[in-house]
Amino acid sequence: MSASNSGFGFSAALWERAYRRTVRSAFARVPFYRDQWVRAGRALSEPVPTPCADLAGQLHRLCPFAEPYDPGAEPSLWIGSTAELRAVLSMAGAGGRAPVLEVRRAVLDRRTLGLSRRYGVLLATDAKVRHERRRRELNEPALRLAAAAGRAVLVGEREAVAEFLPALAEVETRVLERAGLDGAGRSDLVHDPYLGYYAARAGCGHLHLLWRRFHARVADDGSLAVTALLRRRPVLVDVVPDGAATLGRCPAHDTPILGVTP
Ligand SMILES: [Zn+2]
Repeated sequence: MSASNSGFGFSAALWERAYRRTVRSAFARVPFYRDQWVRAGRALSEPVPTPCADLAGQLHRLCPFAEPYDPGAEPSLWIGSTAELRAVLSMAGAGGRAPVLEVRRAVLDRRTLGLSRRYGVLLATDAKVRHERRRRELNEPALRLAAAAGRAVLVGEREAVAEFLPALAEVETRVLERAGLDGAGRSDLVHDPYLGYYAARAGCGHLHLLWRRFHARVADDGSLAVTALLRRRPVLVDVVPDGAATLGRCPAHDTPILGVTP
């Protein structure tokens, strides 16, 4: 049991307080949420849950008034944080030193996941590259990284991961399957293009929410509303991923888990 999924430090009351603080700050500082008040014609105490699909093209409105997004001067803010990837790897029991290969749809200028853990991108077949030969060239460095280490953690959707297994046949490979909430019943990591990684299956078999980083609640219509507690830009409050889940408490770890239908 690692510190990240043990019950140590979890308090439902403090978790709710952190959520309330994030919500207040979002209404006060972020156009996307302030506009919910404008539309309602009054100050709301609860955010209106937002389906993930509605976040497309909204990056500028999801950043605080005081720290606007500048697409000409900074990369997309949707590329995902190394800290969250590290957190789900640790939760899933893959927190060691083996290089991490992540299947993505675009290259990323990232060589490590902090300190000494090496990292490489493998481009999926639907990646935006000019032609297939270029895609294979771009995948070479990551595959070499794994070959040199003799081991790797391979992260990606089930079908995408399968493509790379033959190339990693000589490497001791731990596969962590990633899926959205709607496919999380059998997956190791729960991922959303906007929220990033927010839950992982721990040794107990349950899908643990990264509760230090995310709050979740079941909205009035039964959908799961997820809030990023630590992210300053973009601010994500009550975001609803595709799929359904119940919220519970792990009997082994006493921290929040997601219940999804396999
Ligand atoms: Zn557990």
